[in-house]
Amino acid sequence: MPFYRERVRPGAVLDDFPLVERDAVERDFPRFLAATRFPDFLVMSGGTTGHVVNATIRNEEEYDAAHRYLTGYPAGGAPALEEIERFGLDVYFNTNGYTRRKPKGWPLLSVPLERQAHVDLITRMLVDGFELGGRVLPVGYLQAQNALHRVLAGYYTVAGGTPDSFRLDSVFGYGSHVSRVWQERLRALWGTDVVTSYGLCEFVGANAAPCATCGALHYLTAWQEFLSPFDLSPVETGDAVLVLTSLVPFVTVQPRIRYLTRDLVTIVGECEATGLVGFRFRGREAFSIVAERDGAAQVLLSEVDLLEVLDRLDGVHAHRHPAEIQLWDDGELPPPPFRLGLPQFVVDGSRFAADGTIGIRVEVGFDPEVDRSAARRFESAFLELLGAEAPALEACDARVAVEPIPPGTLRRPVKTSA
Ligand SMILES: [Zn+2]
Repeated sequence: MPFYRERVRPGAVLDDFPLVERDAVERDFPRFLAATRFPDFLVMSGGTTGHVVNATIRNEEEYDAAHRYLTGYPAGGAPALEEIERFGLDVYFNTNGYTRRKPKGWPLLSVPLERQAHVDLITRMLVDGFELGGRVLPVGYLQAQNALHRVLAGYYTVAGGTPDSFRLDSVFGYGSHVSRVWQERLRALWGTDVVTSYGLCEFVGANAAPCATCGALHYLTAWQEFLSPFDLSPVETGDAVLVLTSLVPFVTVQPRIRYLTRDLVTIVGECEATGLVGFRFRGREAFSIVAERDGAAQVLLSEVDLLEVLDRLDGVHAHRHPAEIQLWDDGELPPPPFRLGLPQFVVDGSRFAADGTIGIRVEVGFDPEVDRSAARRFESAFLELLGAEAPALEACDARVAVEPIPPGTLRRPVKTSA
C-alpha cells in the first residue's frame, strides 16, 4: 500500500507503522489502496456522523476468509440441505454498508425493512417458516442492524403484539449501542437476549462479538492494541483507545494497518479461551470525557453512559431511521409507544481542564425557550440519572451543564457504534 511503502522500511515491526486515522484516509484515499483487480464492494458506514461519507473498498474473498476462519466452512462452502434444521433471517436497510449479506448457500435469507410488504414477509417467515425440499424450516436466528431492531419492536408493539409462534434461538444486532431499556424491550419481544457486537465499517467481514467464555469483546480477525488516550502509549489495564490492524487474509484490497479507531474501551482482562485481551466498549472519544487519575486515563463520562440516560428520559427528540419514516408515514399505523430513533447530542469538554465544566447539548421534543418549566424538569431529571450512571463525575467534582435545544438544531445525526 503506497501510504506505508513511503513511510516504513522492509523488516519493520508493527510499532514502526504510523497510526492511521480516518482523516488521513479521507484526504488521500488512493494511497490506502493496493488492488490487483477491480474491487467487489464499496462499503459505506451506516453511521451519519458528520457530512463526509465514510467508505471502504472490499473484495468477496475477504468475507470468505473471515467466514472460513470463524465457522470452519471453506470459501463458498455451505451445509448440505439435509443438515439444515433452521435458518436465519437477515433484516437490512440499504443505507447501511453491510454490502455482502452471506456466503453462497448459507442458510440465511435477507429481507429489507422499508415498507409494509416487507414486514408482512418477515412476519410470515417468523410464523410459518420456509418450505424447502418437502420440509418446513423454521426461523431460528434473526439478525439486523440495531436501528432496525428498534423499528421492528415498535412495529410489533402497535401491530398487535408479539405472535406467540416466534421461536427464535438467537437474535443478533450490530451498528449501535443497545441501552438497557432497549435490551429489556427486545428481550420481551423475542423471548431471548439480543447479542450485539462492536464493529467498524473499516473492518467488515467480522465484528467483535461478546465472548462465550469471558463475556467481553475481542476481535478474532484483527490485531488489537490498547493505547492511552493522552499520549497513545500502550496500556495494559484501565481505559484506553482501541487500535486495530487487519491484514491478509482478512483484507486484500484496502488494508487498515494500525487504525486508530478513536473509540474508547475499558480493558477487562485476558480471556482464558482465546488468550486475547477482552474489552468493553465505552463510546466514541469525541462524545466522552477522559480525565487523569493516579497517572492513568479514566473515562469520566462515556457516550454509552449518555445513551443509557437519554433512552430513559421523557422529552428527548430522536432522529428517525428511514425505515421508521417509510413504515409510519406511508402507512396507517398508530404512533409507536416509545421512541424508535436515536437521541441527538454533543459533548463539549473544552472547558473541563480549566474549570471542571462539561457542556452537554441535547435535542428535545419541545421548544425549551417557550416551555421553560419543561426545560427545567428535563435538566434535573437528566442530571439525576447521569449522576447514577457515571458516578466518577461526582468523585472528580465535575460540573455538568446540560442545555436542552430544539429538535433539528444540531443538524448532525448521531449514531454510535457498538
Ligand atoms: Zn473471551
